[in-house]
Amino acid sequence: DSRLLSAARDTEDGPEAALRPQTLADFTGQQASRENLAIFIAAARGRGDPLDHVLLHGPPGLGKTTLAQIIAREMGVGFRATSGPIIQKAGDLAAILTNLQPKDVLFIDEIHRLQPAIEEVLYPAMEDFVLDLIIGEGPGARSVRIDLPRFTLIGATTRSGLLANPLRDRFGIPLRLIFYTPEELTRIVTRAAHLLNMNLTPDGAAEIAKRSRGTPRIAGRLTRRIRDFATVAGTTTIDRAAADAALRRLDVDHRGLDAMDRRYLRRIAEHHNGGPVGIETLAAALSEPRDTLEDVVEPFLIQEALLTRTSRGRMLGRDAWSHLGIIPPPSPNG
Ligand code: ADP
Repeated sequence: DSRLLSAARDTEDGPEAALRPQTLADFTGQQASRENLAIFIAAARGRGDPLDHVLLHGPPGLGKTTLAQIIAREMGVGFRATSGPIIQKAGDLAAILTNLQPKDVLFIDEIHRLQPAIEEVLYPAMEDFVLDLIIGEGPGARSVRIDLPRFTLIGATTRSGLLANPLRDRFGIPLRLIFYTPEELTRIVTRAAHLLNMNLTPDGAAEIAKRSRGTPRIAGRLTRRIRDFATVAGTTTIDRAAADAALRRLDVDHRGLDAMDRRYLRRIAEHHNGGPVGIETLAAALSEPRDTLEDVVEPFLIQEALLTRTSRGRMLGRDAWSHLGIIPPPSPNG
C-alpha cells in the first residue's frame, strides 16, 4: 500500500516540504482555526482519545496538508496520507484502514472526489470504527464486520459544498481556511528566505507577500524563483526593487494577479461588457476546466472585489476595470 499512500503530492512536495512549519506555534495565520485546534488537541490528549475527525476546507495552497501533518505531530500519532482520486476500490480503502495504528491520523486530500461506493465504506469506519466487508459473490456471499483502531480522519477539500451531506456531517471539527493577510505572508516569506539562505530585506519580503495572492504556496514559489534570478544575476541582497523586477518577469502584477487571472477578467470585460456571464461560457472560452476557475482562480478575485458572483452569472467587481486599464462601458441605468 505504500504506492497508494505516497503518490498524492510527492513531486509537488520536494521543494515545498523544506518550508513546511512543523508545529502549531510555527504555523502563521489562521488564528481562529489554530486556537480552536490547540484546545481540541489538548482536550483529546488529556483524555487519551484520538482527535475527532477534522474537515479542512479552503482554496489550494493555504496549508491544509501542513495543518494535517501538524495535528498528527501535536497528537503524537502516526500520519498516513492518500487522496480521493487515488482510491479506486473499496478494497484500497479497507487496506489503508486496517493498517492504521490506534489514534493515527489518516489524511484524505481532495476528499470530495471519493467515489460514492467508497464513501459508503467510510461512514461506519468514521462513526463506529468498523468495516463492513462483503466476502465472496452470489448466494455464498456473506458480510463480515471488522473492528478498526479508533483513528482520526482529516479530510481536505477546496469547497465544502462539494461534499455529500452525510459525509460532511460526520466531521466533528470543520475548519475553514482563509486567505492570509500581507502581514502574515510577510512573516512566512521572511521565514522561507531564512531557510533558503537568502538575504532578503524587509521591504523585499513585504513586496513578495503583497503579490502572493494571499497564499503561502505561491509565496514560497515566488520566493524560490526570485532567489533563482538573484543567483544568476549575482545579486547578494534582494530588496524591493530586485523583488519587483523578478516579479515583473514572472508576469505577476502589483496586486499579485497572474496571467490567468488577467485573462479571465479581460474576457468578461471585452466579450461580455463586464457580465453577467455564465461560468460554463467562460470555461469554454478560456479552455480551462470549470473546477479550476471555481477553485483556483475565482476565490481570490472575489475576495479582492475584482469579481462578483450573482445568480445571473459572473460580473466584474468595482476595481476590475481600472486594474485592467479598460474604460468601463456606460452604465445602462445612467
Ligand atoms: P494545501 O494542502 O492547502 O494545498 P499545503 O499545506 O500543501 O496547502 O501548503 C502549501 C505550502 O505552503 C507548503 O510548502 C507549506 O509549507 C506552505 N504553508 C502553508 N501554510 C503555511 C503557514 N501557515 N505558514 C507557513 N507556510 C505555510
